[in-house]
Amino acid sequence: MELYVPDHYRVLGVPVTADASAIREAYRKLSRVYHPDRHGGSARATCCFQFISSAHTELSDPLRRLNYDRQLLLSDPLRMVDDPRAARALDVLELVVRRIRRQPEALPGAARGRDLRVRHTVPFRVAALGGTTMVAVSYDSVCGGCRGQGTTEPARNPVCHVCQGQGTVKHGLRRANDECAFCAGRGAVLLACCADCGGRGLARIDRQIGVAVPPRAHPGLVLRARGMGETPALGTQPGDLVVELDVAPHPVLEVQGDDLLACVPVTWLQAVAGGTLQVPTLEGTERLTLPTDMAGRRELRIAHRGLPRPDGSRGALRVRLSVDVPTALGADDVAAVAQMQQRWGDGAFAAVTDYARKLDACSDPPA
Ligand SMILES: [Zn+2]
Ligand SMILES: [Zn+2]
Repeated sequence: MELYVPDHYRVLGVPVTADASAIREAYRKLSRVYHPDRHGGSARATCCFQFISSAHTELSDPLRRLNYDRQLLLSDPLRMVDDPRAARALDVLELVVRRIRRQPEALPGAARGRDLRVRHTVPFRVAALGGTTMVAVSYDSVCGGCRGQGTTEPARNPVCHVCQGQGTVKHGLRRANDECAFCAGRGAVLLACCADCGGRGLARIDRQIGVAVPPRAHPGLVLRARGMGETPALGTQPGDLVVELDVAPHPVLEVQGDDLLACVPVTWLQAVAGGTLQVPTLEGTERLTLPTDMAGRRELRIAHRGLPRPDGSRGALRVRLSVDVPTALGADDVAAVAQMQQRWGDGAFAAVTDYARKLDACSDPPA
């Protein structure tokens, strides 16, 4: 159904044949009813008053009216035959009451509220071990103040004279039954609107919803919390909350299959003489003792500190060490290190010795 923007005669509630004084009189009367100053909170009053003002501007000037009449009759040749004001006042009243009562009910095909879709980032630890995360959502729900009707005083809202309280208007050659823009399809004009929702019938809800995250949740995982979505009208089933997960990166840890990997730098002295390290885990931090003779080993394992497996066991935490050499040494320090190196000889460096062997192999003449 499209929106019907009413013609100026229907807005002023006068026949197409009305003379200038009837138009002026209708404008005065309607201005008194719909002037926004008289209806502090009502956006609908402002909208209706704009309709009324532009109708008056257009029809009160004879030349503009003549042009307008031509356009109107071209677009709707049957316009003269229609007389919506023939409807009896009682029928109109009954229609309005029915519409206002019907408003909070579910529209056909909308028996269930929409799903709320949000992207949400969980901390690394929650994604790895599972847990509950609080998701901030914001959505429209039935206004509690007016139970979705947009007004708490239906009696104070006048019947829409444009559509005669029907909410729709037949017009044009195809006799389209389109929603009346003057009353927003309600049949009554919301002048006394609900203070809580400003006549929308809906209230903005901001809340935090706890969503269960399974262990080993990965970025892109979609979680669904049933019944936590929108409830657009009374009597409708709420939709679901659908959460697409992002996982915040950990400053040190990375996931590698069932294991976690931590890349940790150690000083060259620690690599030679051993020492202790602090390593982050999912549970906090762990103290790790470096063996005195690393003998070229570059990775240590801490069992049961990785990701949980379906059978209840857990992967390992692998600690990959990178040896950090000192920078910005003074001349004395460099001389001292050179002395040490001389004492050890190249044979003390397993990787360097291995490399020298490979280099020799490269220079052998091809067989
Ligand atoms: Zn309300
Ligand atoms: Zn209307």
